Amino acid sequence: ATTAAAAGGRLEGKVALITGGASGLGRATASEFLQHGARVVIADVDSQLGRQVAKWLGPEAHFIECDVGVESQVAEAVDMTVARHGRLDIMYNNAGITGPVFPPGIADLDLDEFDRVMRINVRGMIAGIKHAARVMIPALSGSILCTASISGLMGGLGPYPYTISKFTIPGIVKSVATELCKHGVRINCISPCPIPTPMVVSQFSGFFPDATQDRIMEIVHELGELKGSKCEEVDVAKAALYLASNEAKYITGHNLVVDGGFTCFK
Ligand code: NAD
Repeated sequence: ATTAAAAGGRLEGKVALITGGASGLGRATASEFLQHGARVVIADVDSQLGRQVAKWLGPEAHFIECDVGVESQVAEAVDMTVARHGRLDIMYNNAGITGPVFPPGIADLDLDEFDRVMRINVRGMIAGIKHAARVMIPALSGSILCTASISGLMGGLGPYPYTISKFTIPGIVKSVATELCKHGVRINCISPCPIPTPMVVSQFSGFFPDATQDRIMEIVHELGELKGSKCEEVDVAKAALYLASNEAKYITGHNLVVDGGFTCFK
């Protein structure tokens, strides 16, 4: 376990709600936020894993079962966080899915699959933004984060539904920022390069069915460009920490790319 809340931490006194917080980037960010003094609620559709992870994270972490595709559950996660802690300072809309690993070409695209991905990756994010704003606007403060992707900066990096869903996130963030800045609420997104979380490892296992898990991890890491370094969950967590903290008090509507230069070369 990681977390005795740090006195004088960068998020001291703040309360964060993180969707998709049971695994990968969400879990790493929960751990980072806790180390910097926040109280954290992780919301996830996987209740078994979510409960285990909250326990592992320590006494300042709690779990709420929540499918971000169902608006009432997102609203409830926000309300339960406020009921427990009396406030919501940071909403990290991070839950996402890849959709089909081997999608057909555009001419054969299954629009039901497309809807399924958009429901989680876009509608789910908007639900999180909406219900966080409901609480943050009257408080005249708050920081909303969303996980986009470098798949949303260039074509050809993933299945169409996923790529299209991630292209929308910086647009949502920019348009909502114009309203929220009038209420002292910031909203930003983070666009990571591939990191071998369970979601990405299972996707790449589909591309390379004969490769071992270790080889899949290497293949994913090799996609990064920064020599001598690997992009890891904690790199995204540190970006989220900065955007969530008061150090970023004048930053809103921004898409922070965490990719070691990957998209600079393409
Ligand atoms: P992950 O599989 O480790 O974690 C995703 C979590 O989201 C899981 O705990 C899962 O149960 C949860 N989840 C899925 N659907 C949900 C739903 N409907 N409601 C609530 N929770 C749900 O994957 P990850 O890589 O940490 O993904 C987190 C986010 O990061 C996603 O939005 C993903 O698109 C984005 N992203 C990941 C990478 C990467 O390389 N790992 C790169 C760019 C963007």
